[in-house]
Amino acid sequence: MISKISKMIRGTVANKLSSKISASNKPVSRQTYDEVMVPTFAPNAMVPVRGLGLELWDQEGKRYLDFTAGIAVTGLGHCHPAVVEALVEQANTLWHCSNIYTNEPVLQLGRALTEATFADRAFFCNSGAEANEAAFKLARKYAHDKFGPHKSRIVSCLDSFHGRTLFTVSVGGQPKYTEGFAPLPPGITHMRFNDIEAARAAITDDVCAVVVEPVQGEGGVMPARREYLQALRELCDERGALLIFDEVQCGMGRTGHLFAYMGYGVTPDILTTAKSLGNGYPIGAMITTDAVAPTFAPGSHGTTYGGNPLASRVALTVLEIINTPTFLARVQTAGALLLGKLQQIVADYPQVFDHVRGSGLMLGLVMAEGFQGRAKDLSTHAERQGLMVLIAGMNVMRFLPALVLTDADIEEADVLLRRAVEAMLASK
Ligand SMILES: *Cc1c(COP(=O)(O)O)cnc(C)c1O
Repeated sequence: MISKISKMIRGTVANKLSSKISASNKPVSRQTYDEVMVPTFAPNAMVPVRGLGLELWDQEGKRYLDFTAGIAVTGLGHCHPAVVEALVEQANTLWHCSNIYTNEPVLQLGRALTEATFADRAFFCNSGAEANEAAFKLARKYAHDKFGPHKSRIVSCLDSFHGRTLFTVSVGGQPKYTEGFAPLPPGITHMRFNDIEAARAAITDDVCAVVVEPVQGEGGVMPARREYLQALRELCDERGALLIFDEVQCGMGRTGHLFAYMGYGVTPDILTTAKSLGNGYPIGAMITTDAVAPTFAPGSHGTTYGGNPLASRVALTVLEIINTPTFLARVQTAGALLLGKLQQIVADYPQVFDHVRGSGLMLGLVMAEGFQGRAKDLSTHAERQGLMVLIAGMNVMRFLPALVLTDADIEEADVLLRRAVEAMLASK
């Protein structure tokens, strides 16, 4: 009897195992997503299988021009040879050794990032949300230790996006993302972006930190005004709060500066970055000054994967490529060229588009009055024409091409986008 049961159990395990093994050989499609994935996303119909530079191919072998860069992640394009080489070499050397030990790549990356920026110290993690989580915890503890527990309020902007952990999504300024997740962490205030008077009112004496994206990404590709960031800096200094710049999306060369703060000439106390830092290999960073960093003593905060040799080696390679005057100057030239093309499209289709805004290679094309809510529709038409573009909300087309794009890529995007507009108008 017992042996029969144990045989049955073994049989079940064997069946499960064999079905698992064959599962990896069975073809998958977009349909499979609806069958096996937790439906957190609603992916587009085509499934990409291969990429090179700005080109990408789907399961049917159709080619696309990628102006999304995986939402500002593959800044150097798909499968950049130097990044692939660094990844493969490190994969054959050392992947992981825990934070009980440090490692050479993370020390090199920490040195490179601090030499390149205002910061003296770096903390590495695995995503933008984790970088912001670390920044918010650091700011809270800094104020707690220095001024006492009453100074714990975090101020952020409406329409901002800082990640999807419970803390970061609560700090983010888009209520639709916190719906149903209450109780939320307390001590967070939201203010209007780019509004100095609102900032003056919101940054009270109990505020430990103000967090802002120098160029809002998810919120609609909205650059901060220089005077606004300057005012935030002054208000923070006046009221003993730390200024945090979330450069997860706009950092790592996207605006034509290594970090957007450099273009603004306004320096934060803490900066977070991720997305393009690893070109698709997960890594995030929080960088800060010698004045703030010692708030975190051993044991205050941590991560298993953060700063592992593999991710660090990749990010170091990415940073070395992006952080040269020639590379960053090219981002500015390419950004100006793309901006010009988009402005011409606005001029040619004033009924469809209102205006273009953004910075460097982070541009948003805003839909006109009569086409409110149609950004997704147009991006679907663009994809059909072979151009991948993003949206930011329902009314903004968002362009985040790899920073290595050529003039020919911009010309091609212009042609494909015009075809998409014509197709949308014809189908209306
Ligand atoms: C994408 C993004 C995040 C979150 O990064 P994840 O890696 O998805 O956690 C945070 N802040 C900004 C500005 C972002 O664009």
